[in-house]
Amino acid sequence: MEIPSFSELQLSPGIMKAIRDIGYEEPTPIQQQVIPLILTGKDVAGQAYTGTGKTAAFGIPAIELCQPTNKNVQTLVLCPSRELAVQVGAELNKLSMHKKGISILPVYGGQPIERQIKALSRGVQIIIGTPGRVIDHIKRGTLRLDTVSLVVLDEADQMLDMGFRDDIEEILSHTPAEHQTVILSATFPPEILDISRRFQKDPIDVKMVHQELTVPQIEQYYIEVREPAKADTLIRVLEFY
Ligand code: AMP
Repeated sequence: MEIPSFSELQLSPGIMKAIRDIGYEEPTPIQQQVIPLILTGKDVAGQAYTGTGKTAAFGIPAIELCQPTNKNVQTLVLCPSRELAVQVGAELNKLSMHKKGISILPVYGGQPIERQIKALSRGVQIIIGTPGRVIDHIKRGTLRLDTVSLVVLDEADQMLDMGFRDDIEEILSHTPAEHQTVILSATFPPEILDISRRFQKDPIDVKMVHQELTVPQIEQYYIEVREPAKADTLIRVLEFY
């Protein structure tokens, strides 16, 4: 099958140059599907694992759609952990290196809030945040979401597992009625389908299993044991082989 190149996605010269500088040669399968959908204003519910290129799948269109002269918040990405927020921020910074006037800020718990407040007051268009800290900024009045046009829930199942459901709903209630919502998740349990039903408009389902996770030369099998017996069983398997 012919793989569409980045140039077929009709991206602007600035982002194409960044993609070349970073060294991405062709879009990954999830990028091929998700980039055009986000660029044409669609809501997306994507099954995506880490390692599939999911960050650039929403990062490239988020930067492409970002208007540098508008200093209000345009994109909000919610992540389950500070590590992921920092990582997503770094990737988006690289992707925006040739587009002037774009400010990207990760906001997460554990970092002094004053520093974030100062950065926010200078005008940030793309926020990548953990739910707790985003709520904190909303309550302090240091972050307004009424200008947001794109919301991404990255690793949505992880965020729900960590108990962020109420926070996510609270945050989404501060965004305008008219905006795009992209949900990326490895699994789609009923709670995520419920969030999708309530906050997305005619979402397009994109399923992308991380094919590289399995290597054909490696035989895979599992042994079912009770939790307390896990370590002993592992030791016995290691000894056996
Ligand atoms: P992610 O699934 O977003 O965690 O990305 C996994 C890794 O793939 C990251 O190190 C990215 O920099 C890299 N990556 C993303 N898109 C591409 C691409 N089109 N070609 C090669 N590597 C990529």
